[in-house]
Amino acid sequence: MTTPLHDILAKRILAAGPITIADYMAECLLHPAHGYYSQEKVFGTEGDFITAPEVSQMFGEIIGLWLADRWYKMGKPETLHLIEFGPGRGTLMEDLLRATEPVEGFHQAVSVHFIEASGQLRTVQKDKVPSAHWHDDLSSVPDGPSLIIANEFFDALPIHQFEKLDDKWLERRVHFSDEAFSIVLTEASAKFALTMPNLHSSPNGSILEVCPAALSVTAAIAERLFAGGGAALIIDYGYRKSAAGDTLQALKAHQYHNPLEDAGTADITAHVAFDQIAAVAKSKGTTPYGCATQGPFLMALGIGERAQQLALIAEDDGQSQILNDLKRLTSPDEMGSLFKVLALQAPELAPPPGF
Ligand code: SAH
Repeated sequence: MTTPLHDILAKRILAAGPITIADYMAECLLHPAHGYYSQEKVFGTEGDFITAPEVSQMFGEIIGLWLADRWYKMGKPETLHLIEFGPGRGTLMEDLLRATEPVEGFHQAVSVHFIEASGQLRTVQKDKVPSAHWHDDLSSVPDGPSLIIANEFFDALPIHQFEKLDDKWLERRVHFSDEAFSIVLTEASAKFALTMPNLHSSPNGSILEVCPAALSVTAAIAERLFAGGGAALIIDYGYRKSAAGDTLQALKAHQYHNPLEDAGTADITAHVAFDQIAAVAKSKGTTPYGCATQGPFLMALGIGERAQQLALIAEDDGQSQILNDLKRLTSPDEMGSLFKVLALQAPELAPPPGF
């Protein structure tokens, strides 16, 4: 199927040559008019994929508890920037704000900041959390103590891919010929220097990935926490330890889809390299905790007890729905093991619960 973005990218490639996977991914997701995140129904059962906050309110409630605990351990600062990267439909923030209402002094201290690239999603978020402030990146969020969350944000950041051919690393770029996009191998860009050196000896045919945006966002988060205090919680699917392999994937209507087809109409993501994120955070003076896996993390924080409470007041088939949602979020065959949780903290802060 040709899409408006397919035509735009085809013209660009025919005029100027193949583009990096990172350029292709960024355009497919974030093109202001035709990118994936500028569409309406992106998440949820009607959308192309479902995220943890959209599965159940319990997810946001538990994250809210974690954040309130961190605020206590920070010494209850009177101003706290609560920052979320890529808030999607705003559901996580709405749920965690509701759950933390009883925490005395917390809401008075909090100002909510959303880092969001999509104008369409900003509109949706405004309905859920009207008091939020929107930013393109962290640099415009005022200085001060911060708690930061990012659920399924890092997997949407554009990656570069390199492939070894005849003992030489080349960059995989997207070309257009015979009316279709395809991968070609071209001279490696300077981003190759960011790949893990211990993987450079991988055999011919291996693919390495690197996400420069993830590393620079992490550096900005760590610098903020080091200077102003606080903690960040990053939840996503990916590698504990980077490995060679092609993890670029697309989802459309809950099915895997070829990322090179139907540009702009499928969600494109890649595995998050948690070891690389933790290393950058450490080099900037923050302390990484984890990765934990999502199931044990949520269970340690009491999601099982919360599900029981909700089941007690549920009517009819509500009870089995709650148990299904709990299983979906925590079971190792569903989101429980695939999804990892990494915390980054200012060095003086007490270790976080759940790890
Ligand atoms: N956290 C939400 C949504 C995850 S989808 C949830 O769990 O349901 C990814 C989110 O990140 C979307 O809101 C998307 O618009 C946003 N996003 C993707 N790339 C971005 C970028 N480079 N800068 C800011 N926001 C981005």
